[in-house]
Amino acid sequence: MSPFPRGNGESLLTGIPTWEYNKTMNSVKHVFGPVPSRRLGISLGVDIIPFKTCSLDCIYCECSKTTNLSLRRESFVSVDAILGEIKKSIAGAQYIEYITFSGSGEPTLNKDIGAIIKGIKAMSDIPVAVLTNGTLLYLDDVQEALLAADLILPSLDAASPGAFAEINRPHKDLELKNVIEGLVGFSARYKGQLWVEVFIVGGVNDNDQELELLHRTLKRINPTRVQLNSLDRPPAYENVLPVDTTVLQSIVEKWNDLPVEVIKRVRERGEIASFSRNLESSILNTVQRRPLTIEDLVTLTGMKRVELFKYIDILEKEKKIITRIVGNHIFYAPIGQ
Ligand code: SF4
Repeated sequence: MSPFPRGNGESLLTGIPTWEYNKTMNSVKHVFGPVPSRRLGISLGVDIIPFKTCSLDCIYCECSKTTNLSLRRESFVSVDAILGEIKKSIAGAQYIEYITFSGSGEPTLNKDIGAIIKGIKAMSDIPVAVLTNGTLLYLDDVQEALLAADLILPSLDAASPGAFAEINRPHKDLELKNVIEGLVGFSARYKGQLWVEVFIVGGVNDNDQELELLHRTLKRINPTRVQLNSLDRPPAYENVLPVDTTVLQSIVEKWNDLPVEVIKRVRERGEIASFSRNLESSILNTVQRRPLTIEDLVTLTGMKRVELFKYIDILEKEKKIITRIVGNHIFYAPIGQ
């Protein structure tokens, strides 16, 4: 039996008719969505990295612990195969605001990322965004590759080696000073938008000293935007402390000479384009039959955890589902069950 509830004749993933889904999307492996994204609107995700291959092992990672901590850039997948998948997905989608390199690892570890970005630009006018941890931007090849994208979203959570080690658990050969100089150097060359995300962890980088170091470093990087975030999902490691929105807001006031904002935790239903309603209702229908963990939903939908959480956020906020903790597992269940 198909894992996808298709009683309405539409696919769970896209809302396009089932027969179209079968024809165009069944072969898709590295492209997901379009899905709503808190930072980028309606986004087609491109994942060019094997699961949890990353140069960092951040304590707050929503995708789980890094299993392949690496600085080695490789060709993980055929460029033509990725471009073929993207082409099919664009043809089957009604509306896409960004084609976004994201997923469960660091996309610049794929040494073909520049060729893939150029291939996308040759086939479509949809802006290309790259979610990156920014750690490899000290490499000329990586800078060159990303210059062709429209929006780069690097993260920088620490400006001291101690906080870097504690929050980001980097590969042993990665030095924070190279990471920072890479960001400063790239920003000076890059003509597109640069939005730096800063993840604030309670008790680690929320004190005055760390915040002042971060502030000085961000001034040097000179990004288009600084976006503050904190924990609101199960992290890779235990004992990661979230900070309250009021703390994030106080940082916005403190850093008033930077273009800084707090990333909204939950998007409003009205901000989501109508086609995503099919996916929301499919998740709701699935959960209504029996409580499910995020892993169950990943298996049933084939979607990434980070993308599913965006729908779960909305369903929780609208009080259609609740979270239940049983043993070590978090289940999502309909209200009243
Ligand atoms: S949050 Fe991003 S950079 Fe950090 S471990 Fe997860 S995938 Fe890597």
